[in-house]
Amino acid sequence: MFDVDFFVIGGGSGGVRAARIAAAEGGARVALAEASRVGGTCVIRGCVPKKLMVFASGYPEAIADARAYGWEAASGGFDWAAFRGRLGAELDRLEAAYRATLARAGVEVHDQRATLVDSHTVSLEDGRRISARHILIATGGRPFVPEVPGAELAIISDAVFDLPALPGRIVIVGSGYIACEFASIFAGLGARVAQVFRAPHILRGFDAEARAHLQGAMAGQGIALHPGAEVVRIEADGADGAARIVHLTDGTRLEADVVLYATGRRPNTAGLGLEALGVGIAPSGAVEVDGYSQTAVPSIFAVGDVTDRVNLTPAAIREGQALAQTLFLARPTRAEHPLVPSAVFTRPEFGTVGLSEEDARARGPVEVFVATFRPMRSLFAGREDRALFKLVVDAASRRVLGCHIVAPEAGEMVQLAAVAIGMGATKEDFDRTLAVHPTMAEELVTMKTPARRG
Ligand code: NDP
Repeated sequence: MFDVDFFVIGGGSGGVRAARIAAAEGGARVALAEASRVGGTCVIRGCVPKKLMVFASGYPEAIADARAYGWEAASGGFDWAAFRGRLGAELDRLEAAYRATLARAGVEVHDQRATLVDSHTVSLEDGRRISARHILIATGGRPFVPEVPGAELAIISDAVFDLPALPGRIVIVGSGYIACEFASIFAGLGARVAQVFRAPHILRGFDAEARAHLQGAMAGQGIALHPGAEVVRIEADGADGAARIVHLTDGTRLEADVVLYATGRRPNTAGLGLEALGVGIAPSGAVEVDGYSQTAVPSIFAVGDVTDRVNLTPAAIREGQALAQTLFLARPTRAEHPLVPSAVFTRPEFGTVGLSEEDARARGPVEVFVATFRPMRSLFAGREDRALFKLVVDAASRRVLGCHIVAPEAGEMVQLAAVAIGMGATKEDFDRTLAVHPTMAEELVTMKTPARRG
């Protein structure tokens, strides 16, 4: 007899979902250990506070637009301390909501670190040992910072939300989701932003034309982009040593108040005791699992970023749900993500689903439909912004393989396009759909002539 049916290590998106479904719907006796705050990276130091900062950073532009639309509107300064206070209160509210949900489901939460003792036993920091029929590793990931002299003078994204003051000058290293989002956020908030990345273009792996379009928009907003460069070293500067000097491989010297590293994340597996039990760990540190999120040790499972499959909250939630169904609802469910929509919350946003033009072309002939235009709202306000809407179509089957949108609210639009594409919609299905006029999204159903074929 085990102390509990299910012990979950990690109270983030994947762990909380698995624990709640197992307890509330599966009737299982469930315990969960979380060393930090319940809610995990997404809620506490990722998607949620980031999105609130995205909203905050959009107001200077909105106020300028308001004036163009005839309003008497003036922008005062941004009160970082006031915003941070409200942000903290909102995260407290969300964490309390997560805890209440777990409590209602009957999940016992241990606010401490847990490690594995054997294939059915975990050890808590306070010395208690708890045996479990099944154990779930849902410990997420943590930021990775390359070894560079002075790297300890830089911060990682976790620390952005606790900055004592808004930096006047920030250097951001990397060009993935996090680097690009914070470049846009800090530029919107009025900081001087430099973004340093080793590739020629931001957002490696995304559709090349859309990446280039967004990169142009970011440069147009005054973000100083340093492609093809890496950091050689970081030095402290100024009388109190609080300023930073960043030296780049191309000889450039950048001055900053804050240096932010956003150079990827790594699975959080160190020190859990997994390898000793025979759980497979990939060179990246990821827990190796099968399609049912089961490790090489039959009683141990893993979901979310710690498995380095699709490192997005909705994927972790799906994996947690599927596992709870498999183990406790007698509904074996594979954790599969055949189509992954996502959005980069830059200004403008970049929403994407399905294949890039490059990946689709590698599979066979395609037709590519592209519309770039100045959206009505910003055109009237006198801004130069251009939106990009793009569909990648399989020339033989006519199915839409990919949709890429760089425009305000692109994340909202691509979510809906993902439904149609997931259902196998053809270009003709899109064309048959009546436009909603006047909107930006009507471009998705009115593009008639391919920009490219082949
Ligand atoms: P990404 O994997 O998206 O990007 C990593 C970046 O770091 C790339 O630009 C990469 O360059 C660069 N890099 C990696 N190693 C080095 C190095 N040694 N020296 C210099 N540059 C380096 O990671 P992020 O940290 O941006 O985000 C982590 C994950 O979080 C993402 O994969 C995503 O799944 C998730 N996320 C999702 C968001 C969303 O959905 N909106 C928002 C934020 C995060 P290169 O391309 O040249 O390899």
